Amino acid sequence: MKINRHYLELQQSYLFTMIGRKVAEYQKAHPDNRVIRLGIGDVTLPLCPAVVEALEKASAEMGVKETFRGYGPEQGYDFLKEAIAGYYAEKGVELALDEIFVSDGAKSDVGNILDLFDADNTVLVPDPVYPVYVDTNTMAGRKVIFADANAENGFLPMPDESVDADIIYICSPNNPTGAVYNHAQLKAWVDYAKAHDAVILFDSAYECFVVDETLPRSIYEIEGAKEVAIEFCSFSKTAGFTGTRCGYTIVPKALVREGVALNGLWLRRQTTKFNGVPYIVQRGAAAVFSKEGRQQTMANIDYYRENAKILADTLDRLGIRYTGGKNSPYIWMECPSGMKSWEFFDYLLENAEVVGTPGAGFGENGEGYFRLTAFNDHENTREAAARIEKLLGK
Ligand code: PLP
Repeated sequence: MKINRHYLELQQSYLFTMIGRKVAEYQKAHPDNRVIRLGIGDVTLPLCPAVVEALEKASAEMGVKETFRGYGPEQGYDFLKEAIAGYYAEKGVELALDEIFVSDGAKSDVGNILDLFDADNTVLVPDPVYPVYVDTNTMAGRKVIFADANAENGFLPMPDESVDADIIYICSPNNPTGAVYNHAQLKAWVDYAKAHDAVILFDSAYECFVVDETLPRSIYEIEGAKEVAIEFCSFSKTAGFTGTRCGYTIVPKALVREGVALNGLWLRRQTTKFNGVPYIVQRGAAAVFSKEGRQQTMANIDYYRENAKILADTLDRLGIRYTGGKNSPYIWMECPSGMKSWEFFDYLLENAEVVGTPGAGFGENGEGYFRLTAFNDHENTREAAARIEKLLGK
């Protein structure tokens, strides 16, 4: 028996372990002080009432013989797929129900989609970015090359015709930089993918944070994208489903490679390896699209947006350069005085008792940067912003 040795090539993820250890040590030494966490990527507001009501109703149905549900369709119930299709129609994107696949979240699908591709493909991943893209490809023994995101390109790398990539990851709004591609920029990626016969894996997990109406919230807003892109989205940040678990993946039927429709391959993969999302959870997710659900989830997103604005305004006053914070829950700031990411982490913890995430944990280009998030509450965010301003304004 031989193990998959590619797992041994994975870089150990020290990021959140190291943060946890440093914060615990600091708190032990200063037990009476209040440390504020602006490093969390998880939501903090509870599920909205419309979702809770739908979950309760669906739970009750499961206890009654006539309305009990066993195995459901692996790709999701029509009532949820219809609601998702309606949401896309508002963005001007027409989707057939069998192009929508309901899942237990974007993370699983982003990893699982790789079942469809040969190990020999070249994968292009932005640096810095959500670490799952690199790790899942490393596990499969695939070659990963990087597209540099940096201050010069506004953390939005553009296609390089001299690079021949087969699979391209795009995360917009980006985690960790908060940068968002515009239509023209995404069009350039779609054109590149067409010219190179590549497939774009578009992660739109943070699309609900886009307020600027000129910015795309789905890659399918770009003409021709259905022939080159798969899109992953999630209810995690949209509606606080990080613990409830539900997302969806769009595989257009127009996406054909080597004469094979990827939609059919993904259907085959899902019906073989996945048995669907719980009926109760899908009812909860469908309630996100009801009139009340839309209003209530939007109120929560606005709450986080206000936090992002508090942080962004503080950095503006301090004259510190950053991306994100306007169409994203993440603020990606340059570490002051040329400090390195971990150096600034320690400085902020020890002098302001505020915790963020060192940018170096998201890729080499993250060195010298720092991620703040908008997911804490107003009181803590205001207090943290005041402490940062006091410290860095000196
Ligand atoms: N994609 C990105 C860019 C993320 O940052 C995250 C979570 O933080 C996910 C996907 C995972 O989403 P889900 O909770 O739906 O698995």
